[in-house]
Amino acid sequence: MYGPFTRIKTLLIANRSEVAARIQATAQRLGIKTVCVYATDDTAQAHLAHADMVFPLSGTGHHAYLAQDELLTIAQKAGADAIHPGYGFLAEISQFAQRVRDADLLFIGPSPEIIALLGDKAAARTIAQRCGIPVVPGRTFHAEQQAHAAAYATQIGYPALLKATGGGGGRGMERVNDEASFDKVWQRVVRQAERLFSCSQIVVEKYVEEPRHIEVQIAGDGTEAIHLHERDCSTQRRRQKMIEEAPAPHLPPLMRAKLHDAALRLVHATGYTSIGTVEFIVTSDDQFYFLEVNTRLQVEHGVTEMVTGVDLVALQLHIAEHNTLPLAQHQIDVRGHAIQCRVYAEDPRNDFTPSTGTINLHETCASPFARIEHSIVTPYPVAGLYDAMLSKVLTSGITRGEARTAMAHLLATYTLVGVTTNICLLAHIMQHSLFVAGNVHTQSMPVLLATFPDELPPLPPHTAALLSSALTAFAQPNKPPPPLVVPSGWKERSWR
Ligand code: ADP
Repeated sequence: MYGPFTRIKTLLIANRSEVAARIQATAQRLGIKTVCVYATDDTAQAHLAHADMVFPLSGTGHHAYLAQDELLTIAQKAGADAIHPGYGFLAEISQFAQRVRDADLLFIGPSPEIIALLGDKAAARTIAQRCGIPVVPGRTFHAEQQAHAAAYATQIGYPALLKATGGGGGRGMERVNDEASFDKVWQRVVRQAERLFSCSQIVVEKYVEEPRHIEVQIAGDGTEAIHLHERDCSTQRRRQKMIEEAPAPHLPPLMRAKLHDAALRLVHATGYTSIGTVEFIVTSDDQFYFLEVNTRLQVEHGVTEMVTGVDLVALQLHIAEHNTLPLAQHQIDVRGHAIQCRVYAEDPRNDFTPSTGTINLHETCASPFARIEHSIVTPYPVAGLYDAMLSKVLTSGITRGEARTAMAHLLATYTLVGVTTNICLLAHIMQHSLFVAGNVHTQSMPVLLATFPDELPPLPPHTAALLSSALTAFAQPNKPPPPLVVPSGWKERSWR
């Protein structure tokens, strides 16, 4: 049963790539055995070689990792006592959390009820309002209430933002500039909502000009709640985060305190158990508005870990095992500053179109205060079947300037050959006056791109040398093309 003191001995990681590797690292540090899964077209992943057991999923591509029945069967077969969903895929599917629970396994995350409640943007807004937290002026409509929705948009004034209540990752959301374009945009968003998120409700809300995205990391055990300070995730493209940092630069102490307090009120009001993130937008005239709650580990959790020293995956596991928080608020401090850049397989010079190819060379320079998170084994196919994020790089320093300089260096020495990435843009942003000053807001991307050179810069000497030796190796006569690499030691195997 879902008891108060379940010791996790074996953890099934129901995910792939860098987040699977990240969860595995903590599990192994805590002496927990890991069971990993892979789609049959997705074998070039480093963490598979370090798993205690690996199991193939029958499908290919994104859908393979959504196979609930298969994952539950694997968990039983492997003798797992818990399932960590990572982020994306099944992490916020309440029905999966319930099925994990019904199978007498621990789901590493909040209860199915909390996931269902907060996963709905409209329901989450209502809860926030009940807690006295400001929300952006807005109202929820059914797909067939187009005329009412249009009248409401006129009432609150354009521009407006249409959001599918079940949407996520910046999708199912579109700006409407004026009355004339409302109907077209409404129909597009309704179609996306139904197709991608199986939902038919749309929130019409005021489009806030030039806000910052600031979010608060929280943790609760159903009774007690703590926050682990905030992250600034304002550097975005297509309403999706690209660069995150902790703490938020230049945040007035009063605003910081208000955000932390609002997040905690929400956690207390819902009896939240596990870790999560309460997201806000903050305007230049010091207004803040609740956006949503993410009931899972965030992609950007690492910057919080770097400044607080708290392993958030370990915290999730602890709460799941003991049903209590191991830390009190006074034990959590912020030291220094951390920045994360997401490396995407996409072309920033071509409207961020996803790129495909095969990564033949992937070299990064480790340093004591940097984290490079990926699970790439070359040759690594990028076929557009999975999320475009390839890796994450994180740096920290005593000051923001130090973390930023370290990031600029890390990006300059990051070698990835075979697909177009946003690495050059990330490096450009690190030196951009707007970012240097800590003044980026969520709509700054066009400004950041305006000075981004059209031409690719020449390769740095060390990259050119690496590339030339890699190409020489591939060009050797009689040498067969490299096979899809299966990491050494990779096989379905029993306990070590
Ligand atoms: P998702 O679940 O898709 O991530 P969010 O509600 O978290 O959606 O919003 C994602 C991003 O969209 C925010 O970080 C912000 O940049 C932008 N956004 C959301 N709501 C508004 C709004 N009312 N006005 C302006 N920008 C918004």
